[in-house]
Amino acid sequence: MNEYRLLIDGRPVATPEHLPVPNPATGETVGLAPLATAGHIDQAVSAAARAFKSWRNTSDEDRRRACAGLAERITAAAEELARLLTLEQGKPLNGLGSRFELGGAAAWAGYTATLDLPVETVQNDAQGRIEIHRKPVGVVASITPWNWPLLIAVWHVVPAIRAGNTVVIKPSPWTPLSTLRMIEIMAAGLPPGVLNVVSGRDDIAPLLTTHPDVAKVVFTGSTETGRKVMAAGAATLKHLTLELGGNDAGIVLPGSDPKAMAERIFWGAFLNSGQTCAALKRLYVPDESYDAFCDVLAGFAAKVKLGNGLDEESQLGPLQNPMQFNKVAAMVEQAKAAGAKPLLGGNPAEHRKGHFYPVTLLAEAEAGMRIVDEEQFGPALPIIRYSDVEDALAQANASSYALGGSVWSSDPDRAWELASRLECGTAWVNRHGDIRPDVPFGGIKSSGIGVEFGRHGLEEYTTIQVLYR
Ligand code: NAD
Repeated sequence: MNEYRLLIDGRPVATPEHLPVPNPATGETVGLAPLATAGHIDQAVSAAARAFKSWRNTSDEDRRRACAGLAERITAAAEELARLLTLEQGKPLNGLGSRFELGGAAAWAGYTATLDLPVETVQNDAQGRIEIHRKPVGVVASITPWNWPLLIAVWHVVPAIRAGNTVVIKPSPWTPLSTLRMIEIMAAGLPPGVLNVVSGRDDIAPLLTTHPDVAKVVFTGSTETGRKVMAAGAATLKHLTLELGGNDAGIVLPGSDPKAMAERIFWGAFLNSGQTCAALKRLYVPDESYDAFCDVLAGFAAKVKLGNGLDEESQLGPLQNPMQFNKVAAMVEQAKAAGAKPLLGGNPAEHRKGHFYPVTLLAEAEAGMRIVDEEQFGPALPIIRYSDVEDALAQANASSYALGGSVWSSDPDRAWELASRLECGTAWVNRHGDIRPDVPFGGIKSSGIGVEFGRHGLEEYTTIQVLYR
């Protein structure tokens, strides 16, 4: 069995104890993740703090070249990493799965390398000169979830390094192996200590979020844990970026053609088996076209192939872990008991071993059902009937989550206007979940603080220094 190692100060570090990482499709152990001790966390933060002293002073051009090199390294190792990712995460190799995730990781790294943080001159005349400079923050602790572990790791690590910070990353205990391997590959292109990785159970995370030498925490995960990260950082006033949960609504407007939209709506909701922060998690459909939308969506969904991710034909894999499986199953059961009607799926007992949950569409869902009010994070979409668009909008905005949302219509201008009234970080028209490395992305309300991607995202890894004379 392959024993993985931490990477601290450019060197692999073996640990006395390990955590077996199961394959969610089969239950077999994929590999053994190292269990870092408190001493390892200290060593990693110290190495990053030492490396920061010189990395912060490297030229912009050197840092740009180093980050472009990270993109090349990811590309060169993409197939190896995609297979490891499928084994521990469950997502298919093909389609919108592991190869897609690695392609995104390389694209994000490559684009982020090209970004600049130019000095802004506010005044430069006989009366004086004022400049705004962007400085790196220091040691950044990155804490990542199990749904898109490699893409999210790149979203955290590359802008941090591009801006002159150094990093200690801690992956989720559910999917640590692909991150340990990817960081080993990336760090070989950087000076020792600039990029370090530690893994273990959840209990090591607070050692990072409270560490006095960590200046910033970038966290992607649940809102509940995000609150703990914020509280933990209070004593040392840490800079924070929090990308948290979502319960994105999609609103179909009257007069829309289901055949033109079903495929996009489906993948907006079921990408990565619904285990995506900005997936479409509740769909509001007008009374007049409700039955037609249900029929067309169910027809499309019935053809999607669920299976072991290593099977090149699979389009969706299992849920990543038993806790997630039980949560989705409980929410669907509660909705059925409260009157929701499964158009497809809704009964995991029909299926095989592994955490496979069938693609599920729930008609006649309504507010008050857990699957409408909470984040299901799984392959079960509630479809809610409405008769008044303003009422649908009010329901969409009633959530404490506010990550994304979408409006669907054959009249895109009308949809655009309604989209602007959705309370969320990104509102899409006739699409859901599309993101780009040059466009900021983040949640509001309980979905997070700050943004990632593009210039705005890069600035989150800096502090401002004003020079004034
Ligand atoms: P989680 O909050 O359970 O875990 C996320 C990470 O936090 C893991 O690495 C975990 O080890 C760590 N952690 C656990 N306890 C901690 C603590 N006390 N302090 C600091 N870190 C701690 O989330 P998850 O179940 O891995 O991920 C699913 C959630 O993440 C969903 O709610 C989803 O919407 C959200 N998510 C959000 C985005 C986004 O960009 N907004 C992206 C992906 C996932």
